Amino acid sequence: MLPLEWFSSPTGAMAVAAAIFLIVASRYLLMAGTAWVVCYVWQRPLRRLRKIQKRWPAPAQVRSEIAHSLTTSAIFAAIIAGILWFDRHVHPLLYHDVARYGRAWFWLSIPAMMVVHDTWFYWIHRLMHHPRLFPYVHAVHHASRTPTPWAAFSFHPLEALLEFGIVPIALVVLPLHPTALLLFATWSMLWNVAGHLGFEFFPRGFARSAAGRWLNTPTHHDLHHRYGRYNFSLYFNFWDRIMGTNHPRYAEIFDEVAPPARKGAPAPEDAQQ
Ligand SMILES: [Zn+2]
Ligand SMILES: [Zn+2]
Repeated sequence: MLPLEWFSSPTGAMAVAAAIFLIVASRYLLMAGTAWVVCYVWQRPLRRLRKIQKRWPAPAQVRSEIAHSLTTSAIFAAIIAGILWFDRHVHPLLYHDVARYGRAWFWLSIPAMMVVHDTWFYWIHRLMHHPRLFPYVHAVHHASRTPTPWAAFSFHPLEALLEFGIVPIALVVLPLHPTALLLFATWSMLWNVAGHLGFEFFPRGFARSAAGRWLNTPTHHDLHHRYGRYNFSLYFNFWDRIMGTNHPRYAEIFDEVAPPARKGAPAPEDAQQ
């Protein structure tokens, strides 16, 4: 647990913020680093998984992704420290006793956060793609045309602030326990690393299945990085489907790059661009 009693002095508050930065940054380095080593260095999954785009990322792109992601981690840490300080000294924002809303809500609050976050993300993402705004903020994230796991947090500082805007909103609309928030944030980072993996791991046919109508895939977000005009959602395929912003060939391209559902099934013809 974080020593929150340190919040009583400005130096102590800075130490708490630094500790949170270390947690957020090391979680990022561990998740993205593991995915990078397995898929791009070791390359063992290449026996079964296919790279979604033929292009491989340039070293300068990877360096930029890591630098921007660590800056984002620092911004996130400062905001989390601010929320914890406000919760402790000004007005309660979180609840700290699981029994207050019960265990069922504790676990349900995590998918509830995902639904709220998915809606927030879809609409701020579309806003950031407005031609007048795009070059100033979101272009940093799209510098990764062939995304890698390191791009998970590769945002302009203003985008990092906007992305994190979901947490104060969620704290107003949902009762949240700090541990549930931590589990949600860890899941969200894992999903971001997977979405920028550059490899598809869901089985062929998934995008056309009942589950695939609701859940996004690495190919879904990879197409967003490649074309920019489609696939704005994060976890769920809900908003893209009802707003008509799914890439028109999403399911087709997915089947071209996805691993066969059965081991030993023939690989599809290479139809990548
Ligand atoms: Zn992305
Ligand atoms: Zn975008």
